Amino acid sequence: MTEEEKNKEGTDPQELTVDALDGGTIENYERLMKEFGIKPFAPLVQKLPADKRHFLMTRGVIFGHTGMEQVIDAIVNNKKFAVMTGIKPSNSYHIGSLTTAVEVVHFQKLGGKVYFCLADFETYVVNRIPFSEAEKIAIDNVADLLALGLDEKNAYIYKQSAEPMVKHYGLIFSSHVTMNELRGVYGLKTRLGYYNAAMVQIADILLPQILEGPMPTVTPVGADQAPHARLTRDIAKRGIFKQKFNLPSFTYHKLIAGIDGSDKMSKRNPLSFFYLHDDMKDITYKLKNAFTGGKDTAAEQRKLGGNPDICRIFDLYKFMFEPDDKALKEREERCRSGELLCGTCKKELIEKVKEFREKHLELKTSYMDKAKEIVTSLETPDI
Ligand code: SF4
Repeated sequence: MTEEEKNKEGTDPQELTVDALDGGTIENYERLMKEFGIKPFAPLVQKLPADKRHFLMTRGVIFGHTGMEQVIDAIVNNKKFAVMTGIKPSNSYHIGSLTTAVEVVHFQKLGGKVYFCLADFETYVVNRIPFSEAEKIAIDNVADLLALGLDEKNAYIYKQSAEPMVKHYGLIFSSHVTMNELRGVYGLKTRLGYYNAAMVQIADILLPQILEGPMPTVTPVGADQAPHARLTRDIAKRGIFKQKFNLPSFTYHKLIAGIDGSDKMSKRNPLSFFYLHDDMKDITYKLKNAFTGGKDTAAEQRKLGGNPDICRIFDLYKFMFEPDDKALKEREERCRSGELLCGTCKKELIEKVKEFREKHLELKTSYMDKAKEIVTSLETPDI
């Protein structure tokens, strides 16, 4: 992507952090871990009792962390901690962005209080979506989260536009960060608003401690957010506040690549992803045409086996649609041995997606009124 393209209206500062690494994809997680001081998550997973390990942890989708020792300690010893996340209400959750939501709900089940940010301020600054429009999308986002199991009684759900502390702190942070640092993390942007939005995001991550005092907090992010996470930790330890912070912790998960074989799921490429609310016919079409690790002919595949390591169908099983580790392992072995062919494997996935989608949409519909009540009870700027 050229600098000019990166700077065009609507480019998200978060996307730019992806571009800062490997030209838009995260191909080398080891290099990323070394560069950003990310530690492997697997040894920490072992400290959790077996019934508290999510499959995203046990199969290495969550591959790394910074500072998670304090959060694991809080989980194991029933101490207070927070789990912070957010969404830019410019669109629904799609099959890639749901990974973060699933992690957040799991950490809540392990005892964390959720801070969920509806980043409508950022939606306005980056996408120029009016606050009233963002509110409608935010209702959909909250309904998704409730359908995934979020307990709103142990959650602080807020709009960026209506939470004064994130704007106050965001402005304060901006006076302690140099333009060189901003360019290093987010690239060169033509509008100041992109940088402002990033500063407010940092305040979002620290909000649990701003409001409740020092405590362990975890923010689950995709690998592409490593530069932003590092800047957040740097700012938290700069000693510019009366109030002290525990360094915020992060988990890092792998990113699902595009279903069509492209490097990443991108809204600019509809064949690379799907929404759960998409028509099942469209989802089926995308899955039938997905990029796999299969061979050119069935005979060749029976003889040589497939390669799940590069297969987007296998990725979908791994990230979302096969929660049973043993069943996933069996599928992998049957693929490698040539016993399982791609046609069957895709067909089985389509059935699983259909079942998951139906249940999710039914639950989501049942939560729409509650989501509306939650979101509309928060103030919306009349701008
Ligand atoms: S059999 Fe399944 S996992 Fe293996 S390459 Fe084909 S679609 Fe992918």
